Amino acid sequence: MHLTDSTDLDSVRDAASSLADDFGRAYYLDRLRSGGGTRDMWSAIADRGLLALGVPVEHGGIGEGITPSVAALEAMCYAGAIPPDVFIVSVFMRAALVAHGSPEQNSAWLPELISGKIQYAFAMTEREAGTNSFALKTRAVRDSDGSYLITGEKIFITGIDEADRVIVVARLATTQGDRLTLFAVDLPADGLTFDRLAMTTHGPDSHFAVHFQDVRVPAGARIGSEGGAKEVLFSALNPERYVAAAAHIGLGRRAVRVGADYARTRSPFGAPIGSYQAIQHSLARAHINLEAARLMMYHGAEKYDAGEATDQVNGAGANMTKYLATVSANEALDAALQLHGGAAFLDDTDLVALWPRIRMGRMVPINNEMVLNYVSERLLDLPKSY
Ligand SMILES: Cc1cc2nc3c(=O)[nH]c(=O)nc-3n(C[C@H](O)[C@H](O)[C@H](O)COP(=O)(O)OP(=O)(O)OC[C@H]3O[C@@H](n4cnc5c(N)ncnc54)[C@H](O)[C@@H]3O)c2cc1C
Repeated sequence: MHLTDSTDLDSVRDAASSLADDFGRAYYLDRLRSGGGTRDMWSAIADRGLLALGVPVEHGGIGEGITPSVAALEAMCYAGAIPPDVFIVSVFMRAALVAHGSPEQNSAWLPELISGKIQYAFAMTEREAGTNSFALKTRAVRDSDGSYLITGEKIFITGIDEADRVIVVARLATTQGDRLTLFAVDLPADGLTFDRLAMTTHGPDSHFAVHFQDVRVPAGARIGSEGGAKEVLFSALNPERYVAAAAHIGLGRRAVRVGADYARTRSPFGAPIGSYQAIQHSLARAHINLEAARLMMYHGAEKYDAGEATDQVNGAGANMTKYLATVSANEALDAALQLHGGAAFLDDTDLVALWPRIRMGRMVPINNEMVLNYVSERLLDLPKSY
């Protein structure tokens, strides 16, 4: 199924779920074990039109808004067609470009993003600048011909081995002082190298330390103004939080379903363990909390799309949704793992491989403590602690 001009959420969900036919659990486990890339799945996602979501029609998309991407990712994860992490990067990039790309960038880059021809990576984090990204040290300097030279080190960069372009956040001297600026670097690039990190993420994506040594970027590859990274990133952060929440709600609902299926049949004492209320309640609690997160997510995403909330105000909705979704997904997975007993750890059980991904959601893309800080300071008017 290919979406042509419809962002009707049921059509989006059908297109997204159908990926499970070819890119479901067997594919996920195969790529997990073989370390093989996921470009074939990426092409299938693009073929269904799912990368055209969030992009205005004049740029070859099927309409602005983040709600359809939220629905697509939730449906993919629920169906077990778990996309590479760069799916979230691509939603983020489309939102950033639509809001801040120059006309030249949008006419050149958006069609490539939509067609799946070009895959993006995003490089912000550094060893000493994770949660506090404003501490990052990677530097861009202007050269005499107007181009920029980037030097520095990034860490945890997802999928740069498969990417064709990486968006880099670097510090640049401006008339207002040192300011963060965004650059698009086409890959491969002279002076840019990367090393795979040894990580137990149980996902088909790999993550890298990336080294920049005088990597040259033309002036036309700067996104937003000099020093304007904050503005560009803010327009993409709320969409990123909603799609991160969507992945967790999809995965959490999947865990509840897998748990309930097992509890209906496993009968160590003769009756199915699903007839014991202790087991029922653990799944019922997770279901209720996921439903609450889901309602909050669609309510917030739709308000965001309707322009009813500014980025600033909608930050509360996006942050709280991300929090509730990740906490509920962890609760759901834990309940489903527990009722499986030893079987939870068999590779054939569709749960344990999800654990690192679901657990990581409490830290990435923003840790839940920062969300609690936000709520405390902005909504409860409590003093800032540092
Ligand atoms: C699998 C994976 C993929 C990633 N992909 C990318 C990518 O593609 N591009 C990219 O740029 N980055 C990426 N990251 C990096 C990610 O964004 C960072 O890990 C994240 O921002 C947290 O930074 P940190 O790891 O340095 O944690 P730190 O900043 O060291 O924080 C550690 C912990 O301290 C606590 N903490 C920190 N600050 C506060 C506070 N103010 N109040 C209360 N508690 C606090 C939290 O519990 C937090 O989890 C990825 C990370 C992972 C694990």
